[in-house]
Amino acid sequence: MKNLLIVISGPSGVGKGTIVKELLKKGGYALSVSCTTRGRREGEEDGVSYFFVSREEFEAKIAEGGFLEYSEHFGNYYGTPRSFVEKQLQTHDVILEIDVDGALDVKRARPEALLIMVLPPDREELKARLVRRGTESEEKIASRLARTDYELSKTELYDYSVVNGVLGDAVAEIESIIKANKKTIK
Ligand code: 5GP
Repeated sequence: MKNLLIVISGPSGVGKGTIVKELLKKGGYALSVSCTTRGRREGEEDGVSYFFVSREEFEAKIAEGGFLEYSEHFGNYYGTPRSFVEKQLQTHDVILEIDVDGALDVKRARPEALLIMVLPPDREELKARLVRRGTESEEKIASRLARTDYELSKTELYDYSVVNGVLGDAVAEIESIIKANKKTIK
């Protein structure tokens, strides 16, 4: 059976990272670790959360065609390393947790990719979660909230959208979407 390229997106603070962690606990998935030029947040580990690289290193990798997709937002680059994804796809379903621009680029390059958007139960709750996270300045939180509308406006271009109200339910729904799509992939 061929393996799936699963792209999970959603606005900042929607809880997609937690959903992805739960999926990884189930086994059988490989998570793509992205490269970024943004600074490391407390608790983040190089090579686990991201590969933290300089702008020069990132731009050199762009020039070599080393990214499956990349995008720049909040003044930083984020990109999916092509070789890692291709290698992991030989043995696992691969999850990419990336923004909408990157997701739509992946879909253009690989129409068989499964795009899942994680939605908040409501925008106010999302704002509360983002503020509770407490890792960002107010200005950064405001720019992430402004980005939310843009991300949500792309929902209809995704194959599926899942509301993250109750975590366990959202994870179960995503698993059943994946299972159904595994059956149909050629
Ligand atoms: P954060 O800085 O909060 O970790 O991530 C900011 C945004 O960048 C999130 O929407 C996240 O999904 C996105 N992102 C993370 N890695 C990648 C990537 O490799 N490519 C793209 N296009 N977006 C990414």
